[in-house]
Amino acid sequence: MANMGKQTVLVTGGAGYIGSHTVRLLAAEGYQVIVLDNLVYGHRGAIVDEGVELVVGAVGDRELLRDLFKKHQFSGVIHFAAYAYVGESVTDPLKYYRNNTAEPLTLLEVMAEFSCTSFVFSSTCATYGEPETLPLTEDHPQKPLSPYGKSKLMVEWILDDCDSAWDLKSVALRYFNASGCASDGLIGEDHDPETHLIPLVLKAVRGEIPEITVFGTDYPTPDGTCIRDYIHVEDLASAHLAALRHLMNGGASLQCNLGTGVGISVKEIIDMAKEVTGQEVPVTYGQRRAGDPAQLIADPTMAKESLGWEASRRDARSMIETAWKWMSAPHRGYFSE
Ligand code: UDP
Repeated sequence: MANMGKQTVLVTGGAGYIGSHTVRLLAAEGYQVIVLDNLVYGHRGAIVDEGVELVVGAVGDRELLRDLFKKHQFSGVIHFAAYAYVGESVTDPLKYYRNNTAEPLTLLEVMAEFSCTSFVFSSTCATYGEPETLPLTEDHPQKPLSPYGKSKLMVEWILDDCDSAWDLKSVALRYFNASGCASDGLIGEDHDPETHLIPLVLKAVRGEIPEITVFGTDYPTPDGTCIRDYIHVEDLASAHLAALRHLMNGGASLQCNLGTGVGISVKEIIDMAKEVTGQEVPVTYGQRRAGDPAQLIADPTMAKESLGWEASRRDARSMIETAWKWMSAPHRGYFSE
């Protein structure tokens, strides 16, 4: 066998933003990586390592999955594939429940069939809803405000039941605000449509959009704008690796936050973007966006204690710097597709 000795990992959604950064890390760490991505939001160009195989298809395609599981002996599955537009989930909830909650059932069924019992899941801090206490610990009540958050929380419950029923071991990683791009500028964030703060601020600097609208200036925060916990995408990638290793070493199922524990306001992000780019940021001040809590900040203790992982970058400047590097690169935006 060509890859004898290498552990093989199935990564769904591995051509997406967080998935592609994780795939690069896994490949660099010597894993054989098979990516399953339907390329609805993912990019072929985001798979940059030659040894990584991209299979274009759906997580709900049972025959395709069976073929993959027959062909490879997967040590574990990392499941990123999902829709992640909170606003769209409100107007089209069934799309989210179908894709984010129902489709993974097929994946889990095929895993059970082939006795693959290690599963790393992309969950979200949106499962908490409006914070009752800050920073958010994993035992904070989970009352998601959007179908997106609910679609992810339901999978957390399903994973819990699968552990009881057939010993599936899983780590649900509740991401805070994923941001930044690869340090070498080779891959990055390329959403269409883009809704996230940092890329939109940088698009405004580049004149790709007329301005950035600050959603609300009357929040009960020091400068009146929302506070979030921005976590670098390469730190997220290393957390997935830590979670996979935890499971491969026989670790128990768990759910944990992935954040820095540092809160940064929208205005602070805009000021940092001015410093990093050396240019003005065209800004307008608008109304609050429905469903935005004033503050979301992680308590990252559990990830450190359970997975031995912590964010290597706490300064959002490094996230803006890497995002700017990617945005300013001539190859940016996976133009080939
Ligand atoms: N935000 C903003 N203008 C925008 C996009 C986002 O003011 O055009 C704010 C948003 O209200 C939130 C923060 O930036 O407080 C981060 O939003 P993003 O959509 O990036 O992530 P979210 O926190 O919604 O997951």
